[in-house]
Amino acid sequence: MQIVFATNNLNKLAEVQKMLPNSIELLSLSDINCFDEIDETETTLEGNAKLKANYITKKFGSNCFADDTGLEVESLNGAPGVFSARYAGAENSSENNMQKLLSKLENKSNRKAQFRTVIALNLNDEQFLFEGICKGEILTNKQGSEGFGYDPIFKPHGFTTSFAEMTSEEKNNISHRGIAIQQLVSFLIKN
Ligand code: IMP
Repeated sequence: MQIVFATNNLNKLAEVQKMLPNSIELLSLSDINCFDEIDETETTLEGNAKLKANYITKKFGSNCFADDTGLEVESLNGAPGVFSARYAGAENSSENNMQKLLSKLENKSNRKAQFRTVIALNLNDEQFLFEGICKGEILTNKQGSEGFGYDPIFKPHGFTTSFAEMTSEEKNNISHRGIAIQQLVSFLIKN
């Protein structure tokens, strides 16, 4: 079986392919010659994951899955959430997004947060959703230099280090994306 992962991130693709049996072959967007910019216009992670998977299934007729992730901060009513990548607006970058979040939390004692990943899978005319959550808290300063995005300021529950102080293997074992992917993979293996 071939299935499209609606991403151009070859690291993500390889990570998921490693977890699948050889009978399931993952294709990237460039493998199917899709170079379209798919705008994430929905207001929820679920909405954007479905939008991306549906775009591919409709245009290419393929089985497909797509993911969307956000960092949800309790005392900010779930922000930046679906807007995590663009939190700092036109000047967004990992650094600016983190600085904006740190300043929003400056006087707040509740620093609880969670990363949440949603995966939408279109398989043989049916749609399935998978979710992975990693709970933790926002640190007051950046720690570590591994990873990407908000990793230096996110400390998962039960750990003394930030995501950016972990190896990718340690992080994948407990991360929102790792958990959502595990669920997707178990489902694909069974079906
Ligand atoms: P995406 O849906 O995987 O593109 O994630 C959207 C945004 O959420 C990214 O641009 C990052 O800012 C943030 N993000 C997603 N996953 C992670 C992670 O594992 N660590 C840190 N930031 C993340």
